[in-house]
Amino acid sequence: MANVVVIGTQWGDEGKGKVVDLLTERAEYVVRFQGGNNAGHTLVVDGRQFIFHLIPSGILHPGKVCMIGNGVVLDPGVLIQEMDKLDAANIPVTPESLAISRYTHVIMPYHRALDEARESRKGSTKIGTTGRGIGPCYEDKVCRSGIRMHDLLDPARFRERLDANLEEKNFMLKHYFGSAPLDGNAIADEYLAYGQRLAPYATNVSEVLQKADRDGRNILFEGAQGTHLDIDHGTYPFVTSSNTVAGNACCGSGIGPTRIHKVIGVVKAYTTRVGGGPFPCELLDETGRQIQKVGGEFGATTGRPRRCGWLDMVVVNSSIRLNGLSGLVITKLDVLTGIPTLKIAVRYKCGAQEVGSVPPELKALEACDPIYEELPGWEESIRQVRRFSDLPENTRRYLEAIEDMASIPLHLVSVGPGRDETIILQNPFD
Ligand code: GDP
Repeated sequence: MANVVVIGTQWGDEGKGKVVDLLTERAEYVVRFQGGNNAGHTLVVDGRQFIFHLIPSGILHPGKVCMIGNGVVLDPGVLIQEMDKLDAANIPVTPESLAISRYTHVIMPYHRALDEARESRKGSTKIGTTGRGIGPCYEDKVCRSGIRMHDLLDPARFRERLDANLEEKNFMLKHYFGSAPLDGNAIADEYLAYGQRLAPYATNVSEVLQKADRDGRNILFEGAQGTHLDIDHGTYPFVTSSNTVAGNACCGSGIGPTRIHKVIGVVKAYTTRVGGGPFPCELLDETGRQIQKVGGEFGATTGRPRRCGWLDMVVVNSSIRLNGLSGLVITKLDVLTGIPTLKIAVRYKCGAQEVGSVPPELKALEACDPIYEELPGWEESIRQVRRFSDLPENTRRYLEAIEDMASIPLHLVSVGPGRDETIILQNPFD
């Protein structure tokens, strides 16, 4: 029995969806613990493509329990849309297959309105938020004015909390941002209907997880975004509004740290980043455009093109420290096929100094230049390879260099988007 956390080691979009989907085969419970519908997982199963923003991708496996922990911020309208889409694809979502924490904070229409109004006011200093109300919802959580899942199930309490919030939010929307105020009656009708629909799914996730753990079930915790988007440890302010590091798997679901056995970091074989913020290894040349095109580096949630660059082990090694990683998964290795010489950043030169971890201050990071190690590339297609020893010699050298620089073992190597396009070296549930 093992409880495993999977997180992204870079700036998100590492291909966690596929990895989680694969590892779900060995887990009975799959838990999301942070973020909201700003995450986007694309999965290809039997040639069919699924994009999820909220529901753990484990929903595609019959008999698994998917859980939305208290650390998530939940847009109920989006969740219901995803449930309906799955139903239409003959993948029914039932209270046996999906559970939502009663303490999960709910994204309200005023969160989305404030997110958009604020971002458009910022002009050139935009964070690159997806405008889904995630940040404002977390703000209310910390401010103790948030509306939680269980409030949706109690109409009188819901209305009271809604009215208290609207008084302040409408003032901001109207008088500060110059946008239209929102109507409380319309919101109440919409959200209480959501509450009725979702009531059978609301539960105490922490208690369910304790029982599962005591019964010896495998639990998989599915991180969203990536380590360097963490609100505390990321490249602030170009970060997301939750803690994305593995420690938050505990806070965001209600399980204690002694009950986590392994933490696996997903590393894309190169680096990408969406939105603003420093990116030392960014490639603004033809190679960068090739990686973007071959890797399909466009956001699953927003369609925005992702900035692309060489693999940055300074970024990955900082993630190993921040998450206490026990092993790595390399994804999208096939995308590098055909590039004659590959580079991996091993350290940064920051003025007169050389550093081996990401400097926490934005200005310092902006002033850093990567120091690269060069490795020969490979020409052969690797998508059909299923054993490490069958990979071209230069591909093996690239992977061995990563393992050596990371000083932790590789568990899986993904050589294509399909579930089977994977080299399994060691399953973290073993
Ligand atoms: P996530 O949010 O971390 O799951 O990442 P995304 O879903 O944004 O990005 C993963 C994308 O890469 C999806 O379109 C996957 O189908 C695809 N993908 C995952 N692994 C591989 C791989 O090894 N090779 C290739 N070519 N595509 C992959």
